[in-house]
This record gives sequence, C-alpha cells and structure tokens, in this order.
Amino acid sequence: LLFAVVGCPACRRVQVIETRTPNVRCRGCDKQFDWSERKRFYHGDDAKEARRVASTLSLQVGGAGIEAIAESAAAMEREKTVSVEQVVRQLELLSEFGMEDVESVCKAMRFNGPADRLVAMLRSQQRVFEPRPGRFRWIP
Ligand SMILES: [Zn+2]
Repeated sequence: LLFAVVGCPACRRVQVIETRTPNVRCRGCDKQFDWSERKRFYHGDDAKEARRVASTLSLQVGGAGIEAIAESAAAMEREKTVSVEQVVRQLELLSEFGMEDVESVCKAMRFNGPADRLVAMLRSQQRVFEPRPGRFRWIP
C-alpha cells in the first residue's frame, strides 16, 4: 500500500491519501482530484511517516505557508545546503510549534542538527518563549 501527502487543489487541505487510484476525494471539501498532478510532500509506504508529514504541514499555517515550506525544502534539496537560519525561517511560518514540529521540519529539509539544541539556541537568544510546556511561540 502506497501513501502520498498532497494538498487539495480546491481547499488546500493537506491530507494523506492512498494512491491506488488516480482520483481521490478530498476529506475537507469532498472535491475529487487527481493526486498525481499535485505536489507530493511525501510518497511511500510508511503510513506513520505520511501522517507525520501531513500533520506538520497542516499545522497553524495556511495554504501559502505550506507552499512556501515545500518550495524552500525543494530548493535546498537542489543546493544541498541547509543552514540553521533557513530551518528557523521555515519554523517562523508556524505561529506555535512543539519539538515534534521542529523535528519534522528538520527532517523535511534534511537538516541534521538535533532539534532540541536548535530550540535551546532559540530560547537562549530570546527569540521564542514557552507559553505551555513543550509549546513554543515567537517573541515579536
Ligand atoms: Zn478540498
């Protein structure tokens, strides 16, 4: 069984779909669309990983944010250079995030630095605060 993470062309909702048939139905707006024509944020047989990718992308960001994350990740993959600040810029698209989101973004961008040290750095630089345990927000 193969899964893909795609956004609906109508409502932009990011979701995990099974790729058995070309046409799938959006769980958000019920529109039918051809998943193969959509940008694939994940494609493979790991359902758990697919769900993880989808939930990271669906976070608090809107459609523009999701596209931005995907575009930047693709660009960096081409260049094979990802800096801490590039990862931070992606995280800034999220109004609030947790450690698992940092890990997902690092993974999506193929950044190998440990997520907990990245967050520790942001906290020590007073760029984020922790309104609830394990949740972080940007200091304007
Ligand atoms: Zn939809």
